[in-house]
Amino acid sequence: MSINLQTPIDYLKGVGPNRADLLRTELDIHTYQDLINLFPNRYLDRTQYYKINQLQRNSSEVQIIGEIISLKEVAQKRGKRLVATFKDDTGTMELIWFRGQKWIRESLKLNKPYVVFGKVNWFNGVFNLPHPDMELLEEHEQNLRSAMQPIYPSTEKLSNKGITNRVINKIMQQLFLETKGRFQESLSGNILSELKLISKSEAFFNIHFPKNQELLARAQFRLKFEELFYIQLQLILKNLIHKSKIKGLPFTQVGEYFNTFYNEHLPFELTHAQKRVLKEIRQDLGSNAQMNRLLQGDVGSGKTIVAFMSMLMALDNGFQACLMAPTEILSVQHYNGLEELANQLNISIELLTGSSNTSERKEIHKLLENGELDILIGTHALLEDKVKFKNLGLAIIDEQHRFGVEQRSKLWHKGPSQSDQNESKTSPTPPHILVMTATPIPRTLAMSVYGDLDISVIDELPPGRQAIKTVHRYDKNRLKVFRFIRDEIEKGRQIYIVYPLIQESEKMDYKDLMDGYESVVRDFPPPKYQISIVHGQMKPADKEYEMQRFIKGETNIMVATTVIEVGVNVPNASVMIIESAERFGLSQLHQLRGRVGRGAEQSYCILMTSHKLSNDSKTRLETMCRTNDGFEIAEVDLRLRGPGDIMGTQQSGVLNLKIADLLKDKDILQSARYYAKKVLGSDPTLKATENKTILYTYQQLGKYKNIWNYIS
Ligand code: ADP
Ligand code: MG
Repeated sequence: MSINLQTPIDYLKGVGPNRADLLRTELDIHTYQDLINLFPNRYLDRTQYYKINQLQRNSSEVQIIGEIISLKEVAQKRGKRLVATFKDDTGTMELIWFRGQKWIRESLKLNKPYVVFGKVNWFNGVFNLPHPDMELLEEHEQNLRSAMQPIYPSTEKLSNKGITNRVINKIMQQLFLETKGRFQESLSGNILSELKLISKSEAFFNIHFPKNQELLARAQFRLKFEELFYIQLQLILKNLIHKSKIKGLPFTQVGEYFNTFYNEHLPFELTHAQKRVLKEIRQDLGSNAQMNRLLQGDVGSGKTIVAFMSMLMALDNGFQACLMAPTEILSVQHYNGLEELANQLNISIELLTGSSNTSERKEIHKLLENGELDILIGTHALLEDKVKFKNLGLAIIDEQHRFGVEQRSKLWHKGPSQSDQNESKTSPTPPHILVMTATPIPRTLAMSVYGDLDISVIDELPPGRQAIKTVHRYDKNRLKVFRFIRDEIEKGRQIYIVYPLIQESEKMDYKDLMDGYESVVRDFPPPKYQISIVHGQMKPADKEYEMQRFIKGETNIMVATTVIEVGVNVPNASVMIIESAERFGLSQLHQLRGRVGRGAEQSYCILMTSHKLSNDSKTRLETMCRTNDGFEIAEVDLRLRGPGDIMGTQQSGVLNLKIADLLKDKDILQSARYYAKKVLGSDPTLKATENKTILYTYQQLGKYKNIWNYIS
């Protein structure tokens, strides 16, 4: 029997209560287990030793053997620094500490050979190593070490209190001594042999004390695979359980509405992608399980018609449907578009938003409850308790990243009650749910974050779309840009000019917008030119009025903040000018650009910026000018910002990865998902002897670590 890895870290020799406290608060290490799972951030090559006279100004990390011949404190602007003169047989240099001096002073030994390691600086004609990693030569020679020296995550507090990388390394060694380096296997024999993985014990050993590059790589692979495997296992299980437990409303037939619309009223031929997605949805709706599907499709890929036709499937089976959008403008637009289609089929459809008045609301509530209303379009207003459906069969959420999980779950409870005569309590059956997003997230991320949803992708734009031409212009070229606008207006086109809106400086943004508006009016004076303006501080009715003027073509230019970012559809608008484009994120820029290029005309997007640009801004601008592909843009965005910031991922908690990296380890993720599916496919309850290890590990993970904190 091996040592219980749940043993508190205090019991490890060399740790003690003070260090244990620090490890707990700084690194969240409570048990032996947590310590083994503290994986190095990187490894340093410590096979090389330098002589002081070999140092170069641009040497990075070096390892030197020498002795401290003197120590002094040097006063500086704030506080003082501790400086040691360090000597080898070729010269002298300095070792410097700005913090933790007391502890260091006490522990340093003069005239004893040390091995020091760190990043070289050049200052006042002398080389120095600030806060070097150091160790007495005799210890250095005894230690369990390898060419690849692990560098562990640390904090300032830890290094100030003397828990250096070397100390972590030592207690790690101690842990391997106490446990004899034997750890329980956590993957099944099948997986180990199929993927030729090294054992858990070997992996742990080589991640902390790599024998060589190859074993390190294999250890990393094995541990990354395992981490991703259990996340995928969790997500797929959740999805399976969902499908078996949550009964769905059976939509058994494709009926009258759908067929009539498809055969007689469809305004265009559907793209292959749209057809495929409709089939996927149709399959979900026809099965006995509740649909929980995410529809990803780039801006302009035609998600709305898919949504509408899905609603027809609900109607055909005697159910109601609703579509919720994040903004008033967008719901109005959906309503206007869909009303036209609905009228052709004699379907009743209504709009409910924050600005619906009391009598309208009352009427809608009544029609919904008695079932006379088929389709309801609206904003968050749909979620209010007073909104009760007779039999809601399908709820669609557009631009779902604008909504939280909470709101999705509210819709769940708007399903029809199953009136069971034997029971007094009735529980609603959730409607089928389709969430749509035009903020595509890369597949790897989607797999991890939305692994419990089924995913459909529209990866094809309707035919005849011309790629939008995107250029970057500096503010000083504004006159040229204005000349271009004038030409486009001459041709009958309409123009968007968008200003940033950033919460923290709303006032300043508002001023920018107004200044911008005035300058636009100056250059495009009425009555020859008509200009709309829309911003967040206007009343919804005024916004709507201005929006409508632009949609109807009564105004040439729409000056706006990002309120128009999502979904607005004005096919005649062919130029999108984004002011201070360097202040926008990539997905926002892409969304904004998606407002043009909706008609047959060549469209343009002009990114205006000042001269001062950060590297990230430059990358964003270049990316926008290079490609129109939302998925490609999402990949760059992910690289720039890291997965934590991508919309919708914050709540999911899947991103607390210890060793795997969603960006770099795509292939491992894919393989982990494949094996998780394979295992569950043949053994959904993990009862087979072969999967005993997996079941055990899975249960342990749930028990000791809340890495499953996204289980709802
Ligand atoms: P999004 O996916 O961004 O919501 P929309 O549903 O608003 O896109 O569609 C964008 C535009 O493309 C609309 O004007 C819509 O009528 C049109 N459209 C959608 N599908 C097709 C198609 N298959 N062929 C031609 N035009 C289409
Ligand atoms: Mg849309």
